[in-house]
Parts: sequence; C-alpha cells; structure tokens
Amino acid sequence: MTVYPTSRLARGALGAALLLTAFTAVPAQRPAIPTPASILGYEPGADRKLPTWKQVTDYFHALERASARVQVHTLGKTTLGRPFLAVFIADSSTLRNLERFRQIQRKLMDPRVRGKDELEPLLAQGKNVILITSAIHSTESGGFTTPLVIADRLARGDTPEAKSILANTIVILVPSQNPDGVDIVGDWYRSTLGSRSEGTTPPELYHHYVGHDDNRDWYAFTQVETRYTVDSLYTPWDPQIVNDIHQQGSNAGRIFIPPYMDPVDPNIDPILTAGTNSLGLTIGWRIIAEGKTGVASNAAYDQWSPARQYSLYHRGVRILTETASAALATPIDLPFDKLGAGRGYEAKTATWNFPSIWPGGHWTYGDIVAYQVSATWALLGEAARDRRSWLESYASLGDRALAAGHPWTFDSVPAAYVIPKVQRDTQALQRMIWTLQHGQVEVRTTTAPVTANGATYPGGSYVVLTTQPMGGYANTMLQRQQYPNLHDYPGGPPKRPYDVTAQTLPLLFGVEIGSTSVAPPATAAPIPPMSEPRFTVAGFSDANAKRIAIYRSYAETMDEGWTRWLLDVNRIPYTSIVDKDVRAGRLNDRFDVIIIPEQGARAIAAGLGQQYPDSLQGGLGAPGAAAISAFVEGGGTLLAFNTASEYAIDVLKLPVKNVLAGVRSNDFYAPGSILAVEVKRDHPFASKMTAPVPGVWFENGPAFEITDASRATAVVSYPATGDPLLSGWLLGGAKLNGKAAMVDAQVGKGHAVLYGFRPQYRGQTMATQPLIWGAMR
Ligand SMILES: [Zn+2]
Repeated sequence: MTVYPTSRLARGALGAALLLTAFTAVPAQRPAIPTPASILGYEPGADRKLPTWKQVTDYFHALERASARVQVHTLGKTTLGRPFLAVFIADSSTLRNLERFRQIQRKLMDPRVRGKDELEPLLAQGKNVILITSAIHSTESGGFTTPLVIADRLARGDTPEAKSILANTIVILVPSQNPDGVDIVGDWYRSTLGSRSEGTTPPELYHHYVGHDDNRDWYAFTQVETRYTVDSLYTPWDPQIVNDIHQQGSNAGRIFIPPYMDPVDPNIDPILTAGTNSLGLTIGWRIIAEGKTGVASNAAYDQWSPARQYSLYHRGVRILTETASAALATPIDLPFDKLGAGRGYEAKTATWNFPSIWPGGHWTYGDIVAYQVSATWALLGEAARDRRSWLESYASLGDRALAAGHPWTFDSVPAAYVIPKVQRDTQALQRMIWTLQHGQVEVRTTTAPVTANGATYPGGSYVVLTTQPMGGYANTMLQRQQYPNLHDYPGGPPKRPYDVTAQTLPLLFGVEIGSTSVAPPATAAPIPPMSEPRFTVAGFSDANAKRIAIYRSYAETMDEGWTRWLLDVNRIPYTSIVDKDVRAGRLNDRFDVIIIPEQGARAIAAGLGQQYPDSLQGGLGAPGAAAISAFVEGGGTLLAFNTASEYAIDVLKLPVKNVLAGVRSNDFYAPGSILAVEVKRDHPFASKMTAPVPGVWFENGPAFEITDASRATAVVSYPATGDPLLSGWLLGGAKLNGKAAMVDAQVGKGHAVLYGFRPQYRGQTMATQPLIWGAMR
C-alpha cells in the first residue's frame, strides 16, 4: 500500500509508485478469496444493512491479499481523516506491468509523444482504462455495496466474459468518492433504525463542507477527495471510459443510463458524445435482456457542465447511472398507479427511451445493488468486446484536439487566450492559473507583445492555446457561455438545466483576459505546474478581529458548508451556531457578525419536520427571529446570502422588496449565470472589490428595490439599461435593470447586509468574496 501526497504529483512519479507496489505487495501464499459476506457479516444488498467504511476498506485489503488481480492504493486521507481508496483490477500480468500500460495510454492520448509508426503496436497492446467511481453522494447508498460485488465477480471470475474483461481492461475502482459520507449516512441510519426517522437523510451535510456539491467540484478542485481522483487517477491515466454510479428519486424509472438530454456543451468532442450514447444504449439493451425493467435514457440529465463531468472534457465517455432509491437500505412499496413522470418520459408509458415498464411493487436495497451491478458489468463486458475500437477513437481524439479551431464545431473558437501577468488581484490570477493547470491545461507565456481584443499585452503574458490536448476544456473554462434558449415546448416555460449554465473562470475569479482569433501568438514551452497559492485575506486574525458566527440549520444546506470552507481556507475563526444557540438570545454578548447562508426563509424558520427527533425539529421559530432582531438592533451585523435575504427582510421589516417574488419563469429565468453589476466603490463594503468586469453569480435569487432610501443603500446594482447577462442563460433581464443586487440596511445600531446572489458560490467566486470581507470588517 502506498500513500501519496495530496497534490502536484508528477505523472511519472505516480506511475513509478504504482509499479513499486506491484512488486512489494505479493505474498508468498495467498489465502482464499474472501466473499463480501465474510467481511460484512451479511449478504451484500441485505435489507436494512449498510456497511461502514472500515468494513469496505477491510474487504478490499483482504481481497488484495487473496487475489493477484487486485491492487489497493490509498491515495490519502479524506476531509475527516478516513483513508481514500482506489482499487486497480486486471489480469495479474497487467497489474505487474502497470507503468508500461500507463505509458501506452499516454502515447495513445497525446500524438505529440507518439512515434510515427507507433500507433499500430499501441492499439494492439493497449488496454481499456475504465474508471468506476461510486457513492460520491452518500444518501445514494447502493454505491457503498456495489463496488464489493463487482470486485468479487472480477477477482474470482472465470467465465469467458469475465476473462475477456480482465484481459482487455484496467479497471480503476473508487469504492467511494466520499468515504466520510459512508459513515455520516451509515451512522445516522443505524442510530435511527426502528424509529420514525428510519430511512431519512441525516441532519448534516454528508460531505463535511460541500454535501451533494462534491459532484460539482470537477473544475475548481477545492476538496481533497476531488484532488485524489484527479491527481492520482485522471491525470496519469485519462481513462477512455468512466462509470459514475448514482441514484435518483424513487417514483419513476428504475435506472437512468445515457444518452443524456440536450444541451450538449459544444466544447465536447462529438466522438465522446456518440461513444457515450452508443455504450449507454447497449448497456440498456443488455440489462433489459436480463429481465430488468424501467430503464430510461435521454432523460433528466444534460451534458452541459464540466462541474460534474470531468471525463467528457478529458477524453473519456461518461456513463452516469442513476438507479431508483429506496429509503437508504429500508425497502419501500410503490404501487404502479403511484408512479409518475421522469423528465423526458412517463413511467407508465413505453417509449423509445423508456421501452420496458416497471410494474411497481416492492423496491429494496438489494434491487438497487442488482441494477448497479448489472449495468456496470454490461459496461465492462461490452467495452472489452470492442477494445480496439475504443482505443482507435481515443487516439483520434488527440489528433482532433491539436487541429486548429476544433474541427467538430462551427462555433468560432479563439486561437488563444491571453492573461496579463500584472493584475489587480494577484491571488485570484495565481489561483486561476493553478486551477487551469490542475485540469491538465497547458499554460504558456508569450515571447513578444501580443494584441488581443484591441489591447496590447506585454511579452511574458500567460497564454492558453485552444489547440492543445485539453483545448476544448480550456475553451469552456475561459469563454463566456451562451446557453441555448430551450423551452419545454414552443411558447412554454424554459427547460430547466440539470445544474447551472456558466463556468467562466475569469469572471468568477475577477481576472482580466483577452482572446485572439488570428494566428496564435509566439510562445515558449508550457510553464511548469504552479504551486497552489494560499488563500489569504487581511484583517481577520488580529486582536480586533470580529467575532463571527455561521448559522447551521439541521435542514442542511450546501451553502452553509461552503461558507465554513471559505472561512477555514482563509484561516478566519468563527463559531457554528444551531437553532438552540440562536433561540437562546443575547447574541451580541457572543458575536459581532452572524452569517445566514443561502436557504429559503421557510426552511430557516421551520427547519426539520416531524420525521426527525424532537431536538432537531422546528428551525429558528419565533424565539430565533426575535433573537436575530435584537442582535441587529443592538449593533450586530447580519449577512444574508441569496434567498436567506428574504428571511432577513421579513424578520427585520427592512425597507426592501424582492421584485422577483412571484414572477413566473416564462418572464424571468436565470438558473445559474454570471450577471453584470455596477459597484458603489465609495461604500466601505465594496471598496476592496477589484474585478475588471464585475459580475455576480445569480442562481434563482432575489433582486431588490429599496422603498426607503433613508434606511438602506444599494452597494451593488444591475445596470440601468441593457441585458446584464455575461455568461450562461438569462430570460427577462430587463426586470433587473436599475435594481439592487446587494443592500446595506441600517437597523437600530446595526446592519443587515443582503446579497441577492451567491457571493461565495461553490468556493469559486473570488471576484465577489471581497463583498463578504468588506461587510464583516
Ligand atoms: Zn448522485
């Protein structure tokens, strides 16, 4: 077993480390292959049984000792200190020569390191590298168990198909992308078995900082778990196929398998879209032939954002599967007449993308595991059958990435982006370069002055060419997104994206950038990887620092976790407070600043319901509202992020109105976009904001009208005229004209600060974080 440092692993260094373990891990006499049940104490998939992370790791270590087809690598410690595992499974002869196969994969990926006559032997010798990531979302608990069943089948498999998979494939299995969550959810589940709370989600985030957003971190790389998979698995291997095992709601189909819905990001090479479609439909075909029903495709999940589909921008098709959930490991009953519509199909009607109806009835943890195992096995079997075709298309992706202008798209793609080295926010610049490089983007410097967008940048400026191995990815991260204007039907409401619609790093980070569409500028070789810049913000660590509290609702919110993350990485002390702390009052004795992260007003006030233990129910309620009011009246500062602003407006009776309240999506819609704003620079809260193109992350937020200007000030506003959209999708932008995006309201001796946007969205909006620091000083 090898422990790797967390980041900045050179590709070669990792390969060498893997090779080393191959020679040191072989015992003289192997024990018999253990069954999962022999470690768990019950059959995998049994009702009301979830494994602990220790049981999962014990199983894989025992399997490694018993099978020459299995190598376990510990990539590091999770956020809360658990071991993060990756398990390599292949024929023993393959595992003994992993570094040789990694070199073959590297040469197939990048034509620049491939000899002229080398392709044919590489295609003959190479393996399908298939990454399987499971259980990133910990309430999708089938993913805790399925990897054990898959590993068991591969370790002892002697059927022709098992042998074909082992001979043609290097399986890299991540048994959980969030090991902490296996125990956060599992401990809660076990503690509530037999109570009215059995099968509920835990009253805390299942990833310490980001909860479900752990699967939205695949370009910002803020969390250690993301980095282990990227640094130690994606970057050295760039797998050609990724299987990401998830679960969906209970009431429609039994499993989703690609094709995805529209839209498709035009920066993704269509070979990968077509490969995903083809393999996905083939998996569906196989499992329906096995007798599985309720198989949906072209449903619910789109193909837009790099936040959750790293592989599609890095040479790998992505087979997301989403199996219907039970109540964690507790069975549920779903009569046929209670089944409803998924997005893109109807569970009671057979259609081309939902050809086989599930009859309804009992649905168990074992069913979930069985569907996940079947789909994964079908993927491995089909990919192995077609190994050479997969390698051929993988190799052709490399040639296309290096061809000017991305030959698959009719959109105009700049030849290069130019990023001046002197910027107002040096930390944001360094973080952006680091972030790009971490996603395998090559960054160069100009050897002479270069003109882009009419501006002249000095020699030595950073340059990102779009003709490079991950050029499509670089383009999607640096361009402004133009999300297509999709509607459910002509004249109907906007078609909701699966997630958000923009990812433009220069706008999110507040970094100046230019682009040139003429011949790329003369550059030197790619610069070496930048070491990770430290997050720093002045003024919060001295004796005069403010006493800060972050409200944590038991009805957990990801934004609360992201807020803690932001303060932790900047080493700013704070106290987490829950309902009873607020209800107890006298908050001014303990705190100067209270932050209420993004959360709907009703959820803040009412909290969890009656399925939960009495001590966790009720939210802030009337006593909490009175305490918040007294805190601000008494001189405290309250920061309310996004929809939490409406709670503050209501409780503090602020002279502010949300002009978007009750507006239909046909008339206004912005489901995760970057919008232009104007900043009142002479306001103390805004004085440190330096973004060259000020933009805010708008996601189903409010916009403010001040009804009494003697008691409130607009710190940030939308432009008085014109469409404020900078990147993503916005309908009805005129509704924002002249409205306030951030308000400072005077209440008694204190302030309420309303942000009608996400000032620290997913750890990425360095451009607007100074608006938080300004209000807390
Ligand atoms: Zn999921």
